[in-house]
Amino acid sequence: MSARLLDGKAVAAELTEALRLHVAGLARKPGLAVVLVGDDPASAVYVRNKTRTAERIGLRHWQITLPASTSERELLDEVDRLAADPDVDGILVQFPVPEGIRRLAVVDRLPPGKDVDGLHIENAGLLAQKRDGFVPCTPAGCMELLARTGVSLRGAEAVVIGRSDLVGRPIARLLEHADCTVTVAHSRTRNLAEHVARADVVVAAVGVPGMVRGEWIKPGAIVLDVGINRLPDGTLTGDVEFAPARERAAWITPVPGGVGPMTIAMLMANTVKAAR
Ligand code: NDP
Repeated sequence: MSARLLDGKAVAAELTEALRLHVAGLARKPGLAVVLVGDDPASAVYVRNKTRTAERIGLRHWQITLPASTSERELLDEVDRLAADPDVDGILVQFPVPEGIRRLAVVDRLPPGKDVDGLHIENAGLLAQKRDGFVPCTPAGCMELLARTGVSLRGAEAVVIGRSDLVGRPIARLLEHADCTVTVAHSRTRNLAEHVARADVVVAAVGVPGMVRGEWIKPGAIVLDVGINRLPDGTLTGDVEFAPARERAAWITPVPGGVGPMTIAMLMANTVKAAR
């Protein structure tokens, strides 16, 4: 069996087109501010993709680029300025930020109502209690892709590899809300292969190329590969050994073109929601 591809690029294009039409009908266009600190090339690409999509769907958008020498105080002042700006509905600070700036100090400073990346403790708490708030974009995108398979998640065994605040943990929450039985694996997990082998849904969010072996995948499973890893030859690859996993799975996301574009689409959706 060869898995069907979960084409995140196509689904994201569909979602952003729907948002474009929605925004076209709004008298006041939602506004997104994206803050980039330092000169990490991968972050610069992510930010460019976000602002391009914002432009395409008709949002007002601002990119604030600060030098790598920016202090935590200066970044927090910038966040405060955007928090107070009535034109700005959503604020996204691109992580990682340079050493010397505490990530959580920045996250804590975001007003929860403009926290379109869903990282603030208030939004994390709302998600934990299955209440309405801002859901982190990559996890929200994963759930949208899962919905597109048409496969019922109720009672399914899900294994999430990775437990970051941004990806692994919120995905595990969302899968639990969808009535999956969820196992969260991490760097201290023993026998990862055994956990993966019984999973109907595998989400890999680690950042280690090919660490999920194709032979571990249960036949017929759904595999979401969140990892984005750049190999020495410049190509992008995921956390899952794609070709052998595809032979066993029923559905699988490619890298690139799987979860990545969905993250951006969900950021746009969150910004429109913030404006509402
Ligand atoms: P983090 O580095 O914050 O988290 C990585 C997680 O993987 C940690 O929980 C860590 O465990 C776990 N881990 C590390 N090594 C192993 C191992 N050998 N076995 C099992 N678990 C392990 O990364 P992020 O969550 O931010 O991102 C994960 C990946 O997703 C990256 O490749 C990133 O580039 C990508 N990403 C993709 C996005 C997209 O739009 N497609 C968006 C965001 C991220 P522990 O907690 O024990 O340290």
